[in-house]
Amino acid sequence: MNRADDTKTQESLQGAAAAPGVAIGPAVCLRGHGIEVLRVPIQRHAVDREVERFAAAVASVEAELEATESRIAETFGSDLASIFHAHSVILRDSSFARRIDRMIRRERVNAEWAVQAVADDLGEKFAQVKSQHLRERGEDLRDVTRYLLRALAGKMSSPGVGEDFGRDVVVVSHELTPDEVLRLGRRGAVGFAIEVGGANSHTAIVARALDVPLVTGIVEITNRVADDDPVVVDGEEGRLTLHPRSETLDACRNLQRRRRRNEEARSTAARELPARTVDGTDVELLANVELADELEDVRRFGASGIGLYRSEFLYLEKSPELPSEEEHVAVFRELLEALAPQTVVVRTLDLGGGKVARGLVPENEENPVLGQRGIRLALARPDVFRLQLRALFRAAPFGNLRIMAPMVTAVEEIRALRLLCDEVCAELETEGAEYQRDVELGAMVEVPAAVLIARQLAAEVDFLSIGTNDLIQYTLAVDRTNEHVAGLYQPLHPAVLTMIQLVVEAGRRQRVPVALCGEMAASPRCVPLMLGLGLRQLSMSPRGIPGVKDVVRALDLGAAEALGRRCIAAATAQEVEELLGAFGAASLQRGSRARAG
Ligand code: PEP
Ligand code: MG
Repeated sequence: MNRADDTKTQESLQGAAAAPGVAIGPAVCLRGHGIEVLRVPIQRHAVDREVERFAAAVASVEAELEATESRIAETFGSDLASIFHAHSVILRDSSFARRIDRMIRRERVNAEWAVQAVADDLGEKFAQVKSQHLRERGEDLRDVTRYLLRALAGKMSSPGVGEDFGRDVVVVSHELTPDEVLRLGRRGAVGFAIEVGGANSHTAIVARALDVPLVTGIVEITNRVADDDPVVVDGEEGRLTLHPRSETLDACRNLQRRRRRNEEARSTAARELPARTVDGTDVELLANVELADELEDVRRFGASGIGLYRSEFLYLEKSPELPSEEEHVAVFRELLEALAPQTVVVRTLDLGGGKVARGLVPENEENPVLGQRGIRLALARPDVFRLQLRALFRAAPFGNLRIMAPMVTAVEEIRALRLLCDEVCAELETEGAEYQRDVELGAMVEVPAAVLIARQLAAEVDFLSIGTNDLIQYTLAVDRTNEHVAGLYQPLHPAVLTMIQLVVEAGRRQRVPVALCGEMAASPRCVPLMLGLGLRQLSMSPRGIPGVKDVVRALDLGAAEALGRRCIAAATAQEVEELLGAFGAASLQRGSRARAG
C-alpha cells in the first residue's frame, strides 16, 4: 500500500497495545466465509463412518462451547453467556443434527457438505422472517456452522489462515492462536489486529518475537474492516487506523524509520557494554527464543546466551505433522553452534494449555491450562518425547546445552525425565551414535506447587528458571489470555513477589542457580526489584536486552535490595507500583546529579 485514498474518511479503532511497532498495509480479514466446502461422494460402506465423524465434531464443538459459556458466565454473568448457550442449543437441537445425519445417509455425501447445505437452507428461512429475534438465530446458526466445519476439518485455527494472501498485509481477525500468528507472520503478515486476547497471551509473545505489531481488543473488528482496506496498525498506541490520510501515512513511515534507527544505534552501543551494576555485580542477560531465525537478534542485542528456547514451536509449525528427530537435531545444532561457548537452554516441548499441535494435545479438555500440558504431556507421550530427547543428546556435542522441563509440579516428574534421559542415552550408546551424556537438567518454576517444593526440586536439578508468565496466572488464578481479567493479571502482586523470593532463597540454599524467564524480566521498571530479590540471570526477548542493560548498569545493588525488602512487605500491587515509581525517579535524579558532577 503506497498511497492514501483521501476520498475515504479516516477512522480510528482503539484497542490495546500487545506487540510494539507500526505496520502499514492492505487488510486481510479472516472470516468463516474462507472455508471452501466441497461435495464428496461417500461409498455405501463408509456412510456410518461419516455419520460418526459428524457426531464427533458435534461433541467436540459442544465441549468447546460449554467451556466458553461457563467461563463467560463466571466473569460477566448469564446475559453474555447466553450467546454461547444459544449456540449450544442449536447444536443440541435434534432436528438440526438429524437433518444433517439424514442427508449424509440419503445422499451419501461428506459431513461438511451436509452441514453447509442444511445450514444454508435454514439460514435462508431465518433471513426471510420478520422477527429480529429469529433473524439473530440465523446469525447464531452461521457461527455454529463455522464451528462445525472447523471441527470437521480437524482445525483449531481460524479459517483462512492457510490461504495465500501475498506479502505485507495486516491480518484482521476475531482471534488468532499462537501458531496462527507464527504461520501468518512467516507468510508475510506485517501486522495483526484482533478482537480477542490479552497482551500477555502466547499470541502476543509470538508477535513480539516476530517483531510484528499486534493490537488486541478492537471490538467487532472483522465487521468494521473489509479485505483490501488500507490500514495502519500502531502497536505502541494500541490503535488501528482505517483509510489513513496521507499525513497519517507519512507520520507512520517516519515513526518506522525512527524506530529502526533507534534500535540499530541502541543495539550497537549496548552490545559492547557489560551488564554490570555500579558496584560491580555481573548480571546475565539471556535471550528467549522461539525460532532459529531469531539468532540474528540474539547476537544483535548482545545476549549472553539463550535462557529459554521454546522447542514446542517446532511442533506448532509442523502440526498436524510431527517434526522428525533429524529436524530437531538440525535446529538444536544450529543454535548450539551459533552460540558456543555460551549456553543454550532448550525447554522440552511445552505443548497443551493453548499451544495445540494436532494429534498430540488432547482436545476438549475443560480446562486445558490445568490439563495435560508441559512435562505432563511429554511424559504421557514417551513415543514422541523420546525422539526429542534423543535429538537433544545427539546435538549436545555441538555446544553448551542445558535441558529444561516446563510446568513441573512434582519431583517425580524430574525423576521420570532423568530415567527417560538414561534410557535414551543407553539406546544411543547401543546404536553407536554420536552423543553427549553430560548435560545439565533444570526445571521451570511456573506453578505455586513448584515454588513450595523449590528446595526439594533444587536438590534434584542443576538449575531452576522461574516462568512468571504462568506463575502469575496460576498464583492469582487469572487466565493470562483472557482480556476480561487482564487488569487482575498483576506481575507486581505481593503474592507473586513472595513466590519469586521463595524460589531464589531455595536456590541459594541448595547452591543451584535461579533464572527468571517470564516477560517480567524484560521490564526495565521491574529490573531493580528482580535484582533486589536476589536474581542474577534474566532471560527475555532479545529486543528487551538493551533497555534492561541500561537499568542494570545504573543500579546500586544495596539500594535494589532495600527496594526488594520494601516491596515484599507491601500489601498491594499498587503499593509496589508506587515504590518502583519512586525508586525510578530517585535513580533518574542520582543519574543527572552524577552527570552534572
Ligand atoms: C513462563 O511461563 O513464564 C514462560 C517463560 O513460559 P511460556 O511463556 O512459554 O509459558
Ligand atoms: Mg510457561
